[in-house]
Formats: sequence, structure tokens, C-alpha cells
Amino acid sequence: MNRQARSRTTVYAAGALALLAAVTGCTSGGDSGAASAALVPASGSPATAAPSRSAGPSPTASPTGGAPAAGDAAAWAKWHLTPLPPAPPAPADKPVKLARTGPVPVFSEVKTSDKVVFVTIDDGAEKDPKFVEMLTDLKVPVSMFLTRDIVKDDYGYFKHLQALGNHIHNHTVDHAQMSKVPPEKQKSEICDAQAALTQQYGTPPLLFRPPYGDGANTPALNTAVQQCGPRAVVLWRESMQIHDMQYQAADKKLRAGDIVLAHFRGPKDLKGETMTQMFGELLARIQEQGFTVARLEDYIEAPAA
Ligand SMILES: [Zn+2]
Repeated sequence: MNRQARSRTTVYAAGALALLAAVTGCTSGGDSGAASAALVPASGSPATAAPSRSAGPSPTASPTGGAPAAGDAAAWAKWHLTPLPPAPPAPADKPVKLARTGPVPVFSEVKTSDKVVFVTIDDGAEKDPKFVEMLTDLKVPVSMFLTRDIVKDDYGYFKHLQALGNHIHNHTVDHAQMSKVPPEKQKSEICDAQAALTQQYGTPPLLFRPPYGDGANTPALNTAVQQCGPRAVVLWRESMQIHDMQYQAADKKLRAGDIVLAHFRGPKDLKGETMTQMFGELLARIQEQGFTVARLEDYIEAPAA
């Protein structure tokens, strides 16, 4: 595949953005189910996902401490999965280098030849304790883009995921469609979320993702991001639905360095499937294409303090 042919920064035309928003359904509302319905394979997928929440995995595993090492087949088997290969060492020379000031880059993939993709999880509506248990067992890295008003009823849930080494990033106050609101409102959407997430999680979010990817390449949004603290706008190449990803690439294949979008969603938005079932299917789709999951922040050099 010709990596050079693909731009690291993806520029969306307005029409493409609208389509993207419609099909990715980056919401916690009811429209996401309809949006993803057409994307569910008619024949279903292999039974790789975990049991339902009510009939969850064996409670014998210790909820604290004693978690299996990465690649531990037993830990993966508990979730009806086979282990992904461990991620390669974090590159010493980061492919993404962020500046302390000035315009922020917009990217949806990271330039690397490692056979890795990066998993990002948005919004924060579903707060399934089984998902904490799953990531504790599997040690698969994720990056979270949280919307303040969607997580504020239980900031603590995400602290459990943060404690596993996962980073928390900014996804606005209330999931506004940024191009539809004036610059001052764009700024408050980002700055107020930045303040709340910093207070709750102890670290200022380094990255920002606009809801639906909307407005990502506009000067107004870039300015607002600069005023609020994040140092990059992060989009995605694939969007996880229920059983499979929706691909922007015509050949529907993952490429090294792709950023994958998923959501904290539960049965209401997943046609009865649980967060852990969806995530298990995502890992299976990544695995069957010969990739593993790496930590996005390991490929990004934050600005010098
Ligand atoms: Zn969202």
C-alpha cells in the first residue's frame, strides 16, 4: 500500500462531513441506532464477543490487583477472545510532534510502519463496570474523548480507566456541533470542558475532538482550541458500529497508524449488545487484519513545558 499517497491530515469537504456525521452517529441519542443499522452484517459475526452483562464473565477474577499480564491467554479467553500481539515499543522519535503555541494540527492517522492502530472512545454515556474489568484484564490501551455533561454524573468511572494508563481528552461541554455555533460559544465549549476535565483528572487534555468531526478544519475552531489548551485536533479513519467498523478507505481495510473511533455505548444504542461485546468485536476485527492496538499518546510528543 502506498502510504505516501495518503495525507496525514485529512481535510473534509463540508458535504463529506455531513455524511460522516450521519453515518458515524457520534451521539448518545436514538439516531445512532438507525445510523448503524445498515452497517450491521446480515449474517452476523463470529461469536467473539463477551457474554451479556447479566451473564457476565466468571466473577472469580480479582477485581483489584493480580491482573493477568498482557497477552495472557487466560485473560483473553475469559472474554472469548484470543490475545492480540503486544504493541511494539513506543517509538523514541515520535511521528507526531506538537508545538506549545500556534495553530494546532488536525490528523486522523499517525505516520508509522508499525502494524498498529489506535482506539479512541468518545462521549462517555455508557459506564459499564464490566468494561473496566475488561480493560484491566486485557490491558488494551484506549484514548478517551469525554463530553463534560455526559460524564459529569460519574466522573469517577473514567478514573478507573485512567488508572490503567489511559489518557483523557476534550470532547466539548455538551456535544455541540461546532460549525453551527459562534466562535465565542466554540471557545466556551472547549475551554469549560478543558477546565472540568483538568480538575477531575489532574492533567489538562492534550487533544481535542469536535463532535461529528464537524468544523475540524475551520479557522474558528482552530483558534478556539488554541485558546483553551489542547494542542491537536484528532479525527479518525474508521468508526466502530456494533459488529464491524465503517471505513473511510474504499477497500475497507485498516492501515498502519489509523485512528479508530468507538463510543461508550450500551444496549440501548447497540441493538441489545453490551459495551464489552462491541469492544470484543472491535478487537477481533483489528486482529483478523493483522494489527494490534498501541497507545496513541506513545506516538505523540507533547510540547515541552
Ligand atoms: Zn461524540
